[in-house]
Amino acid sequence: MIWSQAEQLDRNAMKQLQLTRLQQAVDRAYRNVPFYQKRLDEAGVRPEDIRSLADIARIPFTVKTDLRDTYPFGMFAAPLKDIVRFHSSSGTTGKPIVVGYTRNDMEMWTECCARVASAAGVTEHDICQVAFGYGMFTGGFGMHYGIERIGATVVPAASGNSERQLMFMRDFGTTVLIATPSYALHLSEVMAAEGLTAKDLKLRVGLFGGEGHTPEMRQLIEERFGIKDTQNYGLTEITGPGVSYECLYNDGMHINEDHFYPEIIDPKTGEVLPEGSEGELVFTTLTKEGIPMLRYRTRDITRLIYEPCRCGRTNVRMELVKGRSDDMMVIRGTNVFPSQIESVLMLIPGIGPHYQIVVTTESFMDKMEVQVELTDGSLLERYSELERLTREIRQKIHSVLQIDVKVTLLSPNTIERSTGKAKRVIDLRGKAF
Ligand SMILES: [Zn+2]
Repeated sequence: MIWSQAEQLDRNAMKQLQLTRLQQAVDRAYRNVPFYQKRLDEAGVRPEDIRSLADIARIPFTVKTDLRDTYPFGMFAAPLKDIVRFHSSSGTTGKPIVVGYTRNDMEMWTECCARVASAAGVTEHDICQVAFGYGMFTGGFGMHYGIERIGATVVPAASGNSERQLMFMRDFGTTVLIATPSYALHLSEVMAAEGLTAKDLKLRVGLFGGEGHTPEMRQLIEERFGIKDTQNYGLTEITGPGVSYECLYNDGMHINEDHFYPEIIDPKTGEVLPEGSEGELVFTTLTKEGIPMLRYRTRDITRLIYEPCRCGRTNVRMELVKGRSDDMMVIRGTNVFPSQIESVLMLIPGIGPHYQIVVTTESFMDKMEVQVELTDGSLLERYSELERLTREIRQKIHSVLQIDVKVTLLSPNTIERSTGKAKRVIDLRGKAF
């Protein structure tokens, strides 16, 4: 079912709507946020200079450190009395970033998440288990309200405690799982360890987001749970979940572009790239009141697809994120994304799905080690088989990346499991001198 008419506007009507909203958004940001006023003044741009969508390129970018530097409320465009909710993103270093939602923002967010769920086929007949973290993280609450809007039943199980999670699934007859893909895979292992199979559950569809997800991971999740896997995308700075979502055709994620205007730029030069190019995704929030984002650099590498989808939606789609421009490792001059290694690992029987990449420097040369778990620990005693498997992984990674890596096979359950985003890369390279 298509939840909103905004998902089916023709291109011209969408562009007109976007332009009107963009002009209002720039004006609001300029008038209410000293940070934006200063940035725009420095760039010599006045809100009335935005006469076409192409004029957006005149606006300077906003980056994550801008949010940190103005912590906690420096980028809010609405007074605190109008803010009804805070969320924050988990920062690994220093202060997190804080975002605020007005009542209208909450309504917009709820509608966007309802579109996500209904595109995955969720209806009022479903029982949806939200295994995302609740709390300051946007994942749990965002999807919670969207599902409730559709009229489906929400099980706010939150992340972690996998045994209890599975108990609820069995006892309540949960039909929809909402989680990060790595947590879903972890859950499938706990399920197997408890002697349960997909047949013991009533799951039929999964809504996965919060981190990258390769086609191979999708295949594994679909096999293990016997479900249809759909992916969705969002980030706290823009609104949380609800930015883009797959329909049942799994052919790119539809962007809620009536609220979030996407651009693709060259991550090095900042130039806007022609339609269909691969590059870094940039979003401008068109309707957000609490904390508007003008040309926010997501660091995610993808491509936009403007052709209408087979599902009948006309809103632009983004391909699954290939990697992050700041996750992109440069190994001996080659650009490497963890997702490329993951794609190789997922297709090799006997290993995975948990892995880690360790990058070090030896004699001024980058060295990359891929650590991956065996599914059968007894293989560690069968030396020739171990050797054959190691060689196969090394060769396959070489054929994709053209670089030599060290492969280390580990006993099952050695790599630390995460209930949120999995930490895949450990970069131990220091500066050369
Ligand atoms: Zn579609």
